[in-house]
Amino acid sequence: SLPLLKGKKGIVVGIANENSIAYGCAKEIHNTGAELLLGYGTEKSEPYIQPLLADLGNPDLVLCDVTDDEQLENLFQHAKDKWGKIDFLVHCIAFCPKDDLFGRVTDCSREGFKIAMDISCYSFIRMAHLAEPLMTDGGTLLTMTYYGSEKVVPNYNIMGPVKAALESSVRYLASDLGSKGIRVHALSPGPIKTRAASGIDHFEALLNASAEHTPIQQQVTIEDVGDVAVGMISDSAKSLTGHIAYVDSGYHILG
Ligand code: NAD
Repeated sequence: SLPLLKGKKGIVVGIANENSIAYGCAKEIHNTGAELLLGYGTEKSEPYIQPLLADLGNPDLVLCDVTDDEQLENLFQHAKDKWGKIDFLVHCIAFCPKDDLFGRVTDCSREGFKIAMDISCYSFIRMAHLAEPLMTDGGTLLTMTYYGSEKVVPNYNIMGPVKAALESSVRYLASDLGSKGIRVHALSPGPIKTRAASGIDHFEALLNASAEHTPIQQQVTIEDVGDVAVGMISDSAKSLTGHIAYVDSGYHILG
């Protein structure tokens, strides 16, 4: 394929294993010529990530639990020391405590809500803040959302309101940073079998529905998401900002 991202440098966070959307993004971004730095949330994932690094051009791997300000700053400092600047950030991180994820929104605890919002939404806002001074030639900030933000999707529960806040943050960040040439989007993938998805009750039903009832009639893959990420990061998309880009085989247009 054309080296669409040749010369670009940036950070992908949220890789846990070979099924992670972050891995699909990192692969396609690497394959189109960009240089990468990978952030991962917990040492427990390291054995699953190590075997994937060779295919990604052996990028630096930096531990970054987004609830820890020091680790967040360290990730961006690492990029600054390495390149002096970055061109993109791809944020593929979400978390909600189990009890709150499985229960009704009506029953969500204060603490569970705070944790889910902090890790799944505020971390993107904070990363935008840390990326801004490094995006000296402009750049692209991407995060991952889901359709359960707009419609009530069975079992998505409190992550619906959390993703709605994330999507709204995308629009405000896009407005704040547009004059600096920094573009901000969320990609909204259809259901993909990942570790995070395995936390959603009856996830198989969502997967099957997404295969049968979409215009394109195919489940999306992490590589499909990565390909759209590449397009958004590339200079071809330089006049787009603030989008919620559905990577869902068209599911969201159906009534
Ligand atoms: P995944 O489990 O592979 O990735 C989730 C990542 O979040 C993991 O790498 C995990 O370590 C990280 N994380 C959790 N808490 C963290 C913390 N405190 N600090 C740093 N990292 C932390 O699952 P995924 O499906 O690839 O999820 C990536 C993103 O895609 C999430 O935002 C998810 O909501 C979104 N998404 C997933 C689907 C799907 O069907 N899989 C659909 C739409 C959107």
